[in-house]
Amino acid sequence: ILITGSNGFLGRWFSDIFRHIDENILDSSCNIICADNNIVRGDTRDKSIVLNICEKIDTKSLGIKNIDYIINCAGIASPKIYKNYPVETLDVSYSGTKNILELGRKFGVESILCFSSSEVYGTPDIDNIPTTEEYIGLIPTMSDRSCYDIGKKVLETLCHVHYEKYQSPVKVVRPFNLYGPKMGLHDNRVLPNFIDNIIKGKSLKVYGDGNQTRTFCYVTDAIVTMIKILLMGKDGEIYNVGNPKPEIGIKDLAEEVSNVVNKNVGVEVIDYPNFYPSDEPLRRCPDISKTVLCINYKPQISLQEGLLKMYNHYKEKV
Ligand code: UDP
Repeated sequence: ILITGSNGFLGRWFSDIFRHIDENILDSSCNIICADNNIVRGDTRDKSIVLNICEKIDTKSLGIKNIDYIINCAGIASPKIYKNYPVETLDVSYSGTKNILELGRKFGVESILCFSSSEVYGTPDIDNIPTTEEYIGLIPTMSDRSCYDIGKKVLETLCHVHYEKYQSPVKVVRPFNLYGPKMGLHDNRVLPNFIDNIIKGKSLKVYGDGNQTRTFCYVTDAIVTMIKILLMGKDGEIYNVGNPKPEIGIKDLAEEVSNVVNKNVGVEVIDYPNFYPSDEPLRRCPDISKTVLCINYKPQISLQEGLLKMYNHYKEKV
């Protein structure tokens, strides 16, 4: 199993979970290859390689003889970071995905999982919330977020083309705000920011008017869903991954986190900071019927439970 972006939030989860499955569940051993363009962390029992998927992948010099499954979670997902690295953000979605799909072809892999985003829906009209996979989002080509959103659309088209032309066993997922332990505390995503501030006793900063909504899916629910899609999903298809309940305004989220962890540090509604990309989606909520039908699994962890787990995890680290 090749896991790209193995140093990232999802990559860490996938590597750790496959290590667990290998040791506790499988009869015959599976080899895990952790690949990242940064210094590779991971279990010493796994093969770790430094790999920039945007460049030509020379499997021979990397010592890769065979691959059966690819989980391609290399990418730049934090709005603050992709605003600073727009070319790299587009590049990893296009060149990176292209190289990975070609790698899959070369080895005749069983299945490939590629990561798009709920951002491809933009702000859906009211009749399309919750949003199904069929909804076609309107995305500007020249905004601060375009490098990410358009990049993800291109990624999807690449997967589609490889499926149509080469019968690639690729499945595409569109995650809706996944959260939990192992998220980078300095990526400036909303929940790590809120939790970090609570731990440090600082007020929670809500951007804009705070009425914009999101739904949040706890990471273990998302990982189970995505592994099942890798194994049971249909080739060439797209699946929403998220927890539709509750769709919550960000100001309400700030209050919810404070209540759940029982710490009142105050909530401030502030203008968008300069580093934050403009034109953010105002509402976001998935329809997960297609995914549930395919894999027979629904998210199990409520927002309250998940927030508490995340807080308890970081409380010990910070
Ligand atoms: N947000 C916020 N305060 C923060 C970080 C983010 O109010 O410290 C808001 C942001 O405007 C957006 C939501 O929280 O409405 C989620 O932002 P994030 O960057 O985590 O993910 P996105 O869904 O935008 O990719």
